[in-house]
Amino acid sequence: MVKKVLKFGGTSVGSIDRIQHVAKIIKKEHDTGSQVIVVVSAMAGKTNELVKFSKNISENFDKRELDVLLSSGEQVTCALLSGCLLELKVNAKSWLNWQIPILTDGEHTNARIVNMNVSKINSFLEKGVAIIPGFQGVSKNGDVTTIGRGGSDATAVAVAKLFKADACEIYTDVDGVFSSDPNKVPVAKKIDKISYDEMLELSSLGAKVMQSSAVQTAMMYDIPLEVRSTFTDRKGTRIFDRENIDYSKSVTGVAYSKDDAKITLIGVQDKPGVAADIFEPLNKAQINVDMVIQNISSDERTTDITFTIKREDLIKTKDILSNNKKINYKTINHNDKVAKVSIVGAGMVATPGVTYKMFRGLADEKINILAISSSEIKLSVIIEEEKTLIAVKKLHTIFDLD
Ligand code: ADP
Ligand code: ASP
Ligand code: MG
Repeated sequence: MVKKVLKFGGTSVGSIDRIQHVAKIIKKEHDTGSQVIVVVSAMAGKTNELVKFSKNISENFDKRELDVLLSSGEQVTCALLSGCLLELKVNAKSWLNWQIPILTDGEHTNARIVNMNVSKINSFLEKGVAIIPGFQGVSKNGDVTTIGRGGSDATAVAVAKLFKADACEIYTDVDGVFSSDPNKVPVAKKIDKISYDEMLELSSLGAKVMQSSAVQTAMMYDIPLEVRSTFTDRKGTRIFDRENIDYSKSVTGVAYSKDDAKITLIGVQDKPGVAADIFEPLNKAQINVDMVIQNISSDERTTDITFTIKREDLIKTKDILSNNKKINYKTINHNDKVAKVSIVGAGMVATPGVTYKMFRGLADEKINILAISSSEIKLSVIIEEEKTLIAVKKLHTIFDLD
C-alpha cells in the first residue's frame, strides 16, 4: 500500500475555511486507498504572534518556556484539522509531540529531530489518517523543543524518512518552486524539476518556500519531494537527484535575503596570524562569518578586512572586536542595510562568463558590489539593501528566467 506524507504550511491552514478545504484534499487522497500521515504548521501569523507575546514580557524570554509557547500553534491546527476530517466521516487522530514521541537533541528553539516512535501511528494508519504537529519535538529529559522557524518542512521530511513513505508532498501558497519569489518577481516561472543541491542553495540563500535543513535531510537520504499548491490542482515542483535533470540554462534561480550585516576593519596589521586573531573569538562566540575580503595593503604594513555576519549578531560582534586586546585596527565600520543577492544553477559549472555577466548586469543598474562569494553552483553578492529588487529583477532577466 502507498504511504504518503502531506505537509500543509501556515497560509494553507490560515482559517477554518482553509482547514476545511485541506481536509477535503486529505479525504481525496485517503479515498484512493493510500495511507496518509499529515504534518501541519501553525495557522498563518500564529507563531509570530506568540513570539511577540514573549517579547512583550521580556526580550530574553526563557527559551524552555518559549518552546512550550511556540509549539502550541501547531497543536491547535492538529486538533482543528482532525475535527474537520471527522466531520467528513474520515477516521482521523492527532498526536502531540510527546505522545508520539518526536525525539530531538540540541538547544531550545533550534533543536533537531533525531528519532520518532513509529509503531503507534503505523498501526493507526490501517484505520485512518494520522495528524502530526510540525516544528517540534521533545528532548531526552522530557522538555518540549522547537526546531527553528519554517521547521514543519523538516518535520515532514523526517516523518517521510522514519515512516519509509513513498512520497512527501509539501502543500503551500504558491504553485511550486519558482525561478525567484513569485510574490516579488511577477515574471518568475515555476520550475518543474530541481536538484537537491540547487534547492539547498536557494533555500539557504533566502527562498523560504522550503526550509534548508529539510532539503538537506531529503538530499542525504534521497527522499524525493514535491512542492505544490493547496489552492490549485496544478502540478508542482519535484525536487530530487541531479542525474534526473537536464540543464539547458546556466542559472536556475535568483534568491535574496536581508539577514546579513557587513563589518570592515580598517588599518589592520598585515602580518601572519592577524586574521586568525580576529576570527577565533568570533568562532568561540558561535558567530558565523560568511564572506571575507582582505584588501591588498597600500603601505604594505596595514590592510582592511571586510566580512559579513548574521545581522542579529552585529552588536555581539562589535563588542568582541572592541574589547579583545589582541585585535588591533584603526577604525571599524558596519553596515546592516545590506542584502545578499544570489544566482544558483547547476548549469553554471559548464557555462563560462556567468560571473562577468552578473557583475555587468549590476553595473548597468549602478549597483555597487560590497562583497562576493561563490561556490560551484552559486554566486552571491552583498549590495545596498534598497537596491535588492532592482538587482533580483535584472539578474532574472539577463539569465533568461523571465
Ligand atoms: P508555508 O507557510 O506553506 O511553509 P512559506 O511562507 O514558508 O510557506 O513559503 C512560501 C513562500 O515562499 C511563498 O509565498 C513565496 O513568497 C516565498 N518564496 C520565496 N522564494 C520563492 C521561490 N523561489 N519559489 C516559490 N516561493 C518562494
Ligand atoms: N509555525 C512555524 C513557523 O512559523 C513552523 C512552520 O510554519 O514551518 O516558523
Ligand atoms: Mg514554510
